[in-house]
Amino acid sequence: MPLRINPARLRADFDALARIGAAGVGVHRPALSANHLAARAWLRERILAAGLEFRQDAAGNHSGILRAASPAARTLLLGSHTDSVPHGGRFDGALGVLAALEALRTVQDASLELPVHLEAIDFTDEEGALVGLLGSRALTGALTPGELAQPRGGLAALRDGFARAGITDPLGAARPPGSLAGFLELHIEQGPRLIEAGADIGIVSAIVGIGSFRLAFGGRADHAGTTPMHARRDAGRGAAEFMVRARGLVTRDFPGCVINFGRAAFEPGAYNIVPERAELALEFRSPVQAELDALEAALLGEARRVAAACHLELEAVKQGCVAPAPCAPEARAAFAAAADDLGLRHIPLVSGAGHDTQALAAVCPAGMIFIPSTGGSHNPGEFAEWEACVNGANVLLGAAIGWLDR
Ligand SMILES: [Zn+2]
Repeated sequence: MPLRINPARLRADFDALARIGAAGVGVHRPALSANHLAARAWLRERILAAGLEFRQDAAGNHSGILRAASPAARTLLLGSHTDSVPHGGRFDGALGVLAALEALRTVQDASLELPVHLEAIDFTDEEGALVGLLGSRALTGALTPGELAQPRGGLAALRDGFARAGITDPLGAARPPGSLAGFLELHIEQGPRLIEAGADIGIVSAIVGIGSFRLAFGGRADHAGTTPMHARRDAGRGAAEFMVRARGLVTRDFPGCVINFGRAAFEPGAYNIVPERAELALEFRSPVQAELDALEAALLGEARRVAAACHLELEAVKQGCVAPAPCAPEARAAFAAAADDLGLRHIPLVSGAGHDTQALAAVCPAGMIFIPSTGGSHNPGEFAEWEACVNGANVLLGAAIGWLDR
């Protein structure tokens, strides 16, 4: 009979946390905002009330710790994030933090002997209001001074948030190499695949890598009435043809990948001027690095062909990239064994969204599971059945206990 979490205790915590920064049926808790810090103050109280050791590191990450007998033991981390996107949902991140806390309380109640320290962690700014994956990347030593100097949320917002939270040197949160035994995360799926498959648990095989480019087609501004169609060097036409062709290329040749054009801007930008410049924000994702590289080459090749055919210049500026993060086989096996013990149906899934697990995967065996959710995500209407939340928390607990027995 596998050990199980206390669903009523988890539910009480879940409802209490959802009330902090509540906005309609969702929550508004951007990283290091007053609402987020209130949630963290509440979390600290819950950690202390459980008789766990509380820790706040230099990046503001909040943890509850259940110590192993040996001070030299490594740490098995469980967790997620309590920050939300602006006007986000109650489940994204919060469920993973509270399930981690509940797993520690359950292990504590059962007086299990611990070969590793167990730590339930709430990572700072997973959603990237200031710097994406700030807390988890600080902890793994991947955060750089350059990112802090040019945060995507703006320097003023970063400074204000750090001041509110008392963060002075987030780089100081880096843990010694080898101190982590592993990381396990529970999260809602934020997509329809588990429900479509009729599965209880998605065991993440990899988190996608992301490439992004600013592509600009350059032509010639001209009178939109007097210039014959054949004589135009229409940058807008190049952009439009490329958008259509790129989508066809991905669905035909890269079925495991996705592509998005999130912005298109024409210049000069008037009804009666043929566009001289058309700029596109291109993003594409794949779970496999070689495929991500091949897709990048194919997309740029297609863009060059379109530009040549339309007599346009092409400018392609890489806007950064995130490498795919495969989940550790031992983490996947631990989740699968735990789900089997509970009689839950599980399937492998690729995560199309970024998560703290991808940061941890660089330094220790890391893995994550999804539970079925509806209503999309990053909106107040995201939803997961309570039974699914309890299932996920039990699988997280089971995988952690399996880890202790290794
Ligand atoms: Zn999340």
